[in-house]
Amino acid sequence: MFHKILIANRGEIAVRIIRACRELGIRTVAVFSEADRGALHAQIADEAVCIGPAATKDSYLNVKAILAVCELTGANAVHPGFGFLSENSAFARHCERCGVTFIGPSGDAMDRMGDKANAKQTMKEAGVPVVPGSDGAVESLERAQAIAAEIGYPVMIKASAGGGGRGIRMVREPEELEPSMTAARQEALSFFGNDEVYIEKFIENPRHVEIQILADGYGNVVHLGERDCSMQRRNQKVLEESPCPVMTPELREKMGEAAVKAARACDYKNAGTIEFLLAKDGSFYFMEMNTRIQVEHPITELVTGIDLVRQQILIAAGEKLSFSQEDIRLNGHAIECRINAESPELNFRPSPGRINALHMPGGPGVRIDSAVYQGCEISPYYDSMVAKLIVYAPNRAEAISKMKWALGEFLVEGVDTNIDFQLSLLRDPQFEQAAYDIGYLGRNEKLWKKR
Ligand code: ADP
Ligand code: ADP
Ligand code: MG
Repeated sequence: MFHKILIANRGEIAVRIIRACRELGIRTVAVFSEADRGALHAQIADEAVCIGPAATKDSYLNVKAILAVCELTGANAVHPGFGFLSENSAFARHCERCGVTFIGPSGDAMDRMGDKANAKQTMKEAGVPVVPGSDGAVESLERAQAIAAEIGYPVMIKASAGGGGRGIRMVREPEELEPSMTAARQEALSFFGNDEVYIEKFIENPRHVEIQILADGYGNVVHLGERDCSMQRRNQKVLEESPCPVMTPELREKMGEAAVKAARACDYKNAGTIEFLLAKDGSFYFMEMNTRIQVEHPITELVTGIDLVRQQILIAAGEKLSFSQEDIRLNGHAIECRINAESPELNFRPSPGRINALHMPGGPGVRIDSAVYQGCEISPYYDSMVAKLIVYAPNRAEAISKMKWALGEFLVEGVDTNIDFQLSLLRDPQFEQAAYDIGYLGRNEKLWKKR
């Protein structure tokens, strides 16, 4: 087992990983930027080292500095969390070359799945259903026009290197194709340093249903059921629940099998997520694979009783999975609300600043993954997600009720948050009836804006 793990991340996920290490008796090294001197992850780790200025490229994306800290502190493994370097295959290879275990899949597996256009090809060849569209990246406007005409409008233009809902454009008509492609390319270049895009059919009002998998280094692959992440704003997840309220045992088995097949096709090791679009008629399509732990992993932990971050560490340390598919049982219902420091009234503009007063809810079945404390500073440099409120109850109705009480009790002063916005979603009769899809929030923006 590792004796010391460096956490190459910040915020709530860094705190989450430090806690998992502690339970395993592993020492931890936090890295932090100059803007994060007072950050919780830097305070609770056994050691903490400043790796550079606030800008992410100088700190949390600074590979040289991070590897130097491994050397300096004797950390023999790195956990990348999500975002930042988590899906950077060059970083994974650098770690291995320096004798530091990267807690995640191999660089090769990442490359096969990291480029979304390539990943679709791999999946198609493996027999996993994919959304109809271009075979790989699209170079020219002419080619894009031809493909769009063939599959029919509306279409989606997506960045091959995309993530976090960025670099995506929906195109309704042929005239919009050129400007949308330019815009998607530009956004992709600025966010991901790569302007490659691909095209696929726009699926009308599907649900976003993703399957969590775990794979060890001995060919064992299991799936841990699904998460419904259809509650999205501008392709970014807002609230997630598990199980998916419209799931059937038969469909779960089919999607689970497809996910396991997908993981095997890229020789995957560690925790991963296969995202699917579930159409109204019950057909589903592979969308992308996230080769890392995900923001919404806690809801799967609650319904399966399996600690995913702990499993990531055990797998990376060379252990075999201690359970098989038959051992995995889904119990109860879990919901996660992403709590962001942002102003819903100001078009969800980030709201950095100091938290003057803070009260977080608690009680049975209430979990908070967060890195905020009273008096802490929310930095404008990083993601605005500052906490995740997760509830667990025997069934969906009780989970919704619990989440309403928990949100109502949550108090944050000093910065704006989306807590009231989340509460209005929870109170929505259509949400209560589980009658929502990925377009729901977009179509109903006016509804909750008035509240
Ligand atoms: P999840 O499905 O885990 O919610 P997201 O796609 O929302 O994943 O991304 C998780 C976090 O990582 C978000 O904070 C997002 O901004 C960030 N992120 C995702 N992809 C990338 C990327 N390629 N580069 C940098 N940050 C990313
Ligand atoms: P990211 O890498 O940014 O997470 P995804 O490919 O997972 O990008 O897409 C993000 C979201 O965009 C999905 O969760 C879904 O809501 C929507 N989306 C993606 N592809 C399609 C499609 N072909 N048709 C309709 N909606 C889509
Ligand atoms: Mg996605």
